[in-house]
Amino acid sequence: MNRRIFLTTTASTAAASLLVPASSHAAIDLSQAALPYAPEALEPHIDAVTMGIHHGKHHAAYVKNLGDALKAASVTQTDPLALISDLSAVPEAQRMLVRNNGGGHVNHTWFWNWMAPAGSGPKGPEGKLGEAIQSTFGSIDDFKKLFGEAGTKRFGSGWAWLIVTKDDKLKVTSTPNQDNPLMKGIVADEDLGTPILGLDVWEHAYYLKYQNKRPDYIAAWWNVVNWSQVAKGFEAAKA
Ligand code: MN
Repeated sequence: MNRRIFLTTTASTAAASLLVPASSHAAIDLSQAALPYAPEALEPHIDAVTMGIHHGKHHAAYVKNLGDALKAASVTQTDPLALISDLSAVPEAQRMLVRNNGGGHVNHTWFWNWMAPAGSGPKGPEGKLGEAIQSTFGSIDDFKKLFGEAGTKRFGSGWAWLIVTKDDKLKVTSTPNQDNPLMKGIVADEDLGTPILGLDVWEHAYYLKYQNKRPDYIAAWWNVVNWSQVAKGFEAAKA
């Protein structure tokens, strides 16, 4: 059976998992993993106090609130990606809680892994990822400009994303709050996809060091992007 027929015939049962191959990201469950580096490892671009509060308080609260909401709703699904991909399966009374805290948990788990100490890996996208970014956006700089604008223009709290759409195209998008490009029925259909890079533009991600200067935070953040991880996600999302 060729891949297209297989996907079509299994679409109804596998819909929630189709966008995200299991290998595209670090394993994620309902618990919070430790940061993959020390809180000070991203300095001077992201400061240790911000990282400590962001991971230890903000992300930790999303994890706790998600667990509480699932318990209150008697939801037995323990895969956060399946939960946020199909929120219609969550009882209405807890749906907004699961949307915000499930999104918060997934987004932050990935965010920590999309960063690495400056100089510890490739300085930019290489190989197939680099080629795809250049052919889609014109150049690496054009991509960074577009992505940075998505983050700068996001009013209030939210995320800028680089996603792989279901037709295997790269796209820059943005979501409010903790919404994630996997959220069917919440994110516009044309903006659905598998995130391979995301940037948290909530003030809690930068305010201690950058205050109101979100563009400065975004400019500095490129120094700590984990391009090896982004490339891995790209390969997996297209597989
Ligand atoms: Mn955050």
